[in-house]
Amino acid sequence: NRKARRMTASARHGLDLVHQFSDLQAHRNGETTTIVRGEGVHVFDAEGNRYIDAMSGSSCASLGFRDERLVQAMTEQAGKLPYYHLFAQKSHEPAERLARQLSAMAPEHLNHVLFANSGSESNDAAIRIVRAVNISRGKPEKRRVIARHAGYHGSTTLSASVTGQAHMRFGSDSVSPDVSFIPEVCHYRHGHDGESEEAYAARCAAELEAAILAVGPDTVAAFIAEPVMASAGCLLPPKGYFQLVDEVLRRHDVALIADEVVCALGRLDSPFGSTRYGLRPDLMTLAKPLTGGYFPLSAVLMTDEIYDTLTLESAKSGLLGHGLTYGGHPIGCAVASAALEIYAQADFRANLHATIATFERHLAAIADCPIVGETRNAGLLGALEIVADKTTRRRFDAMENVTLKIGRALQKNGVITRWTRETVNLCPPLVISEDELEVLFGALRASLDQVA
Ligand code: PLP
Repeated sequence: NRKARRMTASARHGLDLVHQFSDLQAHRNGETTTIVRGEGVHVFDAEGNRYIDAMSGSSCASLGFRDERLVQAMTEQAGKLPYYHLFAQKSHEPAERLARQLSAMAPEHLNHVLFANSGSESNDAAIRIVRAVNISRGKPEKRRVIARHAGYHGSTTLSASVTGQAHMRFGSDSVSPDVSFIPEVCHYRHGHDGESEEAYAARCAAELEAAILAVGPDTVAAFIAEPVMASAGCLLPPKGYFQLVDEVLRRHDVALIADEVVCALGRLDSPFGSTRYGLRPDLMTLAKPLTGGYFPLSAVLMTDEIYDTLTLESAKSGLLGHGLTYGGHPIGCAVASAALEIYAQADFRANLHATIATFERHLAAIADCPIVGETRNAGLLGALEIVADKTTRRRFDAMENVTLKIGRALQKNGVITRWTRETVNLCPPLVISEDELEVLFGALRASLDQVA
């Protein structure tokens, strides 16, 4: 019967658990690492192996895997008010406190915050808000979003539609008619021979303007961009890029959505990627490090002008037509408040600064490996660009799966990381020590040597 068949299948294939962004065939073949415990920058698997998690889980565990202050904030809140919502004129203290903290630290022109559960949902909400504002301004046709190839913005329908990594758009392969893509920015890969970063930045900004003009500025609502393209392999904006982008966007009345889901809260050695690179976003989305990864929570910061329009619109129908049962969950807000307090401490920031200097020293040293074409970083977000030929910058053939081999070797050598076809990515917890960085880069060099 069906139940017996299902049980046989589950016995054959392990748990009836569908993993995410994961090779399902590899799981069927038994290649599953089950993590059972975390401590500082380390996680431990069911066999007792210890790994440095050089990706902070999924770029979120900025404070490591068992920070007692965060655990305590969650426990206290769970014992007081484990759930409430923000619907129908109800509010709760943890959400109000966190909103005050975020407004105080955010760029001056972003004074209002809407909470959601994930980075994807916060980007969805930001896009819906920009469209709602344009409808309210009598411009309903101004709804298109421009995004960049290789960018990652999420796995919900709308956020996936602006994600520029085709293999991450499962089920929605045909690109949405409301979205235009322009090339990603990477001077190492796309700069012409002898082209300065500034000249390359001007070319990229011109590509953005051409994309707006191609469909008509009256149809374009927003440009969505990560300050540094994180999962694409730490693609840094060329010098002056966002200043030129800003001019283009103002010229055509297009809003900027800064996706700071990875970049914010210290990762780039500044409170936000926008502060570091001089962006002036109309909306900014935050998630992962907001709770140190301990609870799903995300935020959309917005300007007074946008908030005023939402207020006007809600007056027309009696409510703002957007809400999530768990958006701004009290336990998430409580742990986020505790995390923000830690990120703001002077000695935390000083330690982070020193850690980044050490990280950069190691990155510079590993650049001499024969298959490392370039190392890049912004703060503690980094990547190694893997090439077959350093001089010509020729890539390995996709069939060789070189970065996958490096990733596997690294895990055998005690370090968990993620990779793209061209890069090995690094996003370690902000609390990683000098000694742990030494171990991480030792394992990285050994793994590169094994594969090269
Ligand atoms: N935006 C960026 C830049 C991300 O890297 C991610 C996740 O990796 C997301 C959005 C989506 O966040 P979530 O997985 O919490 O939905």
